[in-house]
Amino acid sequence: MVCPRCGRASAARRAGRHQCPYCGFLIDLSRARVIASGDYKAVREAVVKYNEGLR
Ligand SMILES: [Zn+2]
Repeated sequence: MVCPRCGRASAARRAGRHQCPYCGFLIDLSRARVIASGDYKAVREAVVKYNEGLR
């Protein structure tokens, strides 16, 4: 999902709340923008691609 505070993507395994590893913001998963779902490996790849695209 994408952190609404710093705009970077991170992978969350569980439902509920997820803390952004970049800025420490607590993301509500029901509100966050999800860029990928399903296989954790696929989610991680999507996260890396998303963050590369920010530069
Ligand atoms: Zn963040």
